[in-house]
Amino acid sequence: MATGLKDVLPEVPGLAEHWGHGVVHCPYCHGWEVRDEPIGILATGAASIGHALLFRQLTEDLTYFTHGTELDEDSRARFAARGIRVIDTPVTEVVSDEDGALAGVRLADGQVVARRVLAVAPQMQARTHGLEGLGLPVQDLPTGRTFASGIDGTTEVPGVWVAGNVTDPVAQVGASAAAGALAGIDINKVLAVADTDAALQGIAEGSPQGATGRS
Ligand SMILES: Cc1cc2nc3c(=O)[nH]c(=O)nc-3n(C[C@H](O)[C@H](O)[C@H](O)COP(=O)(O)OP(=O)(O)OC[C@H]3O[C@@H](n4cnc5c(N)ncnc54)[C@H](O)[C@@H]3O)c2cc1C
Repeated sequence: MATGLKDVLPEVPGLAEHWGHGVVHCPYCHGWEVRDEPIGILATGAASIGHALLFRQLTEDLTYFTHGTELDEDSRARFAARGIRVIDTPVTEVVSDEDGALAGVRLADGQVVARRVLAVAPQMQARTHGLEGLGLPVQDLPTGRTFASGIDGTTEVPGVWVAGNVTDPVAQVGASAAAGALAGIDINKVLAVADTDAALQGIAEGSPQGATGRS
């Protein structure tokens, strides 16, 4: 199973259509492209505080929209020390320019704050839908519920391996592909043993196919 995950964004009108372009989540994926731009952090919870510090490495023009989330005094002081502006008025809409690019956010008081990029820490939901019948055990991680896996993507269900974001939400492409390779190697080992077991059984039963049988 390598069904990945779904990024669930806050329900702010105009936000979703910019996903992966003007709306980003990962400083390592998008950092180069958004460097030195006016960036806004649309907070979704405590994880957004660390997120802001990462994006601050990429731009000196960073605004943190608390958007109903808590921001403690210590974090406010740390943000002030790094020149990160904080806005507590809720965001009601993401505004686009005439070319369709992200232009800013509209606040509940009607003010528009110009931004070229919004960084959002989405809620990550492993794509387990439709796979419930397999009976795979799940695990609750701080980043959300995923399929539980052992070494090399093994699971408690014989014949099912898992790899990538469906078991590890923070795995990027390299780690996901590596997990798939490790699972593939383990699957191949299991098949090689199964072929050998079948061959041995065939010989024991006097079958001429025994030595060449394949799983
Ligand atoms: C906007 C964005 C930018 C990113 N940029 C980078 C980057 O620059 N570098 C980087 O390393 N990582 C980046 N990532 C993260 C990267 O996309 C993931 O780490 C990677 O795709 C995880 O691979 P995966 O195979 O686990 O899942 P996915 O790539 O999500 O693949 C899962 C596949 O399974 C399919 N699927 C789902 N359910 C079913 C089903 N029931 N039956 C059949 N098929 C199904 C899906 O359609 C999908 O094709 C980015 C992510 C996002 C959202």
